[in-house]
Amino acid sequence: MKTFNLDDISIEIVQKNIKNVHLSVHPPHGKVTIAAPLRMDTQTLRVFAISKLSWIRKQQAKIKNQKRETAREYINKENHYYLGKRYLLKVIDTDLRPKVILKHNTIELHVKPNTNTLQRKTILESWYRNKLKELIEEYISNWEKQIKVRVKDFGVRKMKTKWGSCNHNAQRIWLNLELAKKPRHCIEYVVVHEMVHLINRLHDERFVAYMDKFLPQWRAIKRELNELPIGNRGD
Ligand SMILES: [Zn+2]
Repeated sequence: MKTFNLDDISIEIVQKNIKNVHLSVHPPHGKVTIAAPLRMDTQTLRVFAISKLSWIRKQQAKIKNQKRETAREYINKENHYYLGKRYLLKVIDTDLRPKVILKHNTIELHVKPNTNTLQRKTILESWYRNKLKELIEEYISNWEKQIKVRVKDFGVRKMKTKWGSCNHNAQRIWLNLELAKKPRHCIEYVVVHEMVHLINRLHDERFVAYMDKFLPQWRAIKRELNELPIGNRGD
């Protein structure tokens, strides 16, 4: 793995069989990578990176800000995302079982009057989990026919650095709980990506060819997803 430094920024070069240079700044720490064609030399990449330095700094600042704004209190009027759309949280007292109801612009959180922050968070997360599972199940059954693969099992869990993972031997895929906050097409992309891994483990040319075949627009979706940090998008 080659790296070089620009001021205080360390840039990792990933050379592969591609035609164009692609620069990315990744959450959660603002790591910078350049995907470059195999024969491109470091000096060329350095010049390219210098021309993008202010963009890199801007992206890193954005990620840092978003990270700071992720602390949620689960109180009225707080912003929460569901399937890429912003909703206002409305906390409603109830003596009945806690529940979550999705309205036009609000997410209603019905809880007992002295429910604390952690309990509210847990209730909302289990709602997210159930909603996400329903959606994933739908995508899996649609894509099983197209990819011609059987997903034996799937699960949703919290992941810090990845949107999804898979266990090739068990034919099982895992999706990040945070995906519930992202647009549907982003969720579908991660499902397809992990399902393709069940027929092709590596991120090699064959993998890319499958992605191009099944989801020709996957690159744009991947970029969109990686522009949003894992964790709540704050504003
Ligand atoms: Zn992968």
